[in-house]
This record gives sequence, structure tokens and C-alpha cells, in this order.
Amino acid sequence: MKPVPFAYYRPASLDEALALLERYGSDGRLLAGGQSLVPALNMRLAAPAALIDINRLPGLDGISLEREGLVIGALARHEAVEASSLVARHAPLLAQAMPHVGHRAIRTRGTVGGSVALADPAAELPACLVALDAVIRVVGRGNQREIPAVNFFRGIYTTDLAQGEIVTAVVVPPIRLGWRSRFDELARRHGDYALVGLAAHCRLEGGTIKEARLAFCGVGPTPVRALRAELALGGRRSSAEVLAEAGRALDADLDPPGDVHGSPALRRHLARVLLARVIAKLVEPCHGRH
Ligand code: FAD
Repeated sequence: MKPVPFAYYRPASLDEALALLERYGSDGRLLAGGQSLVPALNMRLAAPAALIDINRLPGLDGISLEREGLVIGALARHEAVEASSLVARHAPLLAQAMPHVGHRAIRTRGTVGGSVALADPAAELPACLVALDAVIRVVGRGNQREIPAVNFFRGIYTTDLAQGEIVTAVVVPPIRLGWRSRFDELARRHGDYALVGLAAHCRLEGGTIKEARLAFCGVGPTPVRALRAELALGGRRSSAEVLAEAGRALDADLDPPGDVHGSPALRRHLARVLLARVIAKLVEPCHGRH
């Protein structure tokens, strides 16, 4: 199928893009990497009157270390995030997660801003941003906001973005001493969206997990913090018994959906497997160190 005809704009500035969004209202759609929007247009699942291509907006594709943390521009491609030495050092969770996003061809076009604005419940980046307590920067006509990731993702493909707002960056706060992170997921094939994914960010002392932040993807309408499992791990040295206890706590944290890819029971099982695997990896180099 071919898309419904649309007007095409390629603004040269953020002001111009915002003015176009205001002019078209809900009939205007931003085009970033196009990895989700273009298939939706082709299948006529979306039929906007105007496409506002933001790929040439200046200054939105950078990755820089600022006082407030690691700032990743909305137009940074997944591939750039994956390859960035700043990300590897200051947000290793994102560097670990990126290779799981689709295939390389998709990662060369897909953007950070597109991924957070799309808010796919199985996407890796939103879960990582929740685990890292990151914020999403957005601008509108005459306003700008910083929205904590935990409040940004509101439901399936639904965010806190208001009509006429554009995501400009995500900001990952500086990682404090002793915090380590790990991402992993289980999918049917590499490159598929996750059946279950886990972004774990924990404060360790030796082999003891002092604090844990666990954000799952693929198990609910938004990234899901596993608060009971976090409590079960907190202040304890990782062991088979502790991991089993945290796995049981997960049952109360998660209420996964069933679909053609897997039942709720399968997803619960995979979440427990993933939790044990991720925590074991996370504490691995710490055992024996005090
Ligand atoms: P686009 O497709 O251009 O836009 C998506 C939506 O976001 C549109 O509504 C658009 O208007 C809006 N938007 C874009 N940028 C902004 C902005 N700055 N501010 C406000 N709104 C904006 N993703 C994963 O996370 N994990 C996967 O495993 C995965 N697998 C994939 C497999 C395939 C085969 C394909 C085709 C895609 C896959 N994706 C996956 C999605 C892809 O990687 C992109 O991250 C995602 O589609 C959105 O990024 P984009 O830049 O392509 O956005």
C-alpha cells in the first residue's frame, strides 16, 4: 500500500517546526528516523495531512557531558548511542541496550527522540531511562519542560507530550559511586522487540546489593518498576536463595499481558529467568571484593 497523500515540510529551525506543528495541530506529524512512522503511513494506520521532517534541525543530534548529566539529543541515532564512548562511560546501560533495538539498518535511522515519543511498551530505551531516573526535555511554543521518565510514559504508545511539543533531548543524571548497571532481554529472534527485557541499575558494595532499581519492558503498558523485587534484593548479598525470593516477589510486581508472542505465564517465567541472569552478571566482578 501507499500512504495517503500528505504535505511535506523540512523546517530549518526549531521555531519553524513548532510553528508548523501549531498550524496543523493533530493533523501534523513529526518525522524523525521514520522507522515506525513510515510503515504506519504505508499501511495507512496513520494519515496525517502534513509530515514535518525534523532531521535537519540543527543541534539536536549531539551527545555531550554537561553539569546535569549526559545529554543525548533527540536526533541522536541508536547507532550513535551504541558507539559513543561518552555513553559507554556515563550511561553503560544504554550502550548495552542499544544492540537489542531492531537490526543495524534500523539503528542507523531510528532516533532517541522517536523512540521515547513512540513509547512502545516493549522498547528498550524507555525502560533504561526509568531505571536511570533520567528526564525527557521537551519544548513547545513558548514553553519548555523537563519530565522525569517515570512520569513521561503514560500508557501503550502514550506519553506526557502535549499537542505541539517536541522532544529535544534525554538527560541521564551522573552515575554515583558504586552504581552499576546491566541490560538484557529475551526475544524470539535477535532484532525482535523484547518478550521481556530488564534494565537494572544497582548500588553494590562487594557482593552486596545495597539498592536496586529494576525496570522491565514488554510486561505492561509502560516500563514497569519491580518495587517488591527491588526490596527483596536491597541490602543483601546475592545468592541463589535471595534471587529465588526476589523472583517470587516479581509475581506481585508484574501483571504481564498475553498476546500471540507469549502468554502471561510465559512472560512471568521469562522475567524471573532474566532477573536471576541480570543480577548474577551485575554482581559477578564484585564477589570477593570488599
Ligand atoms: P519515527 O518513526 O520517525 O517517529 C515515531 C513517532 O514519534 C511519530 O509519531 C513521530 O511523530 C514521533 N516523534 C519522532 N521524533 C519526535 C520528537 N523529537 N519529538 C516528538 N515526537 C517525535 N524499537 C525498539 O525500541 N526496539 C526494537 O526491538 C525495535 N525493533 C524494530 C524492528 C523493526 C523491523 C522496525 C521497523 C523498528 C523497530 N524498532 C524497535 C523501532 C525503531 O527502532 C525506532 O526507535 C522507533 O521506531 C522510533 O524512532 P524513529 O526515529 O524512527 O521515529
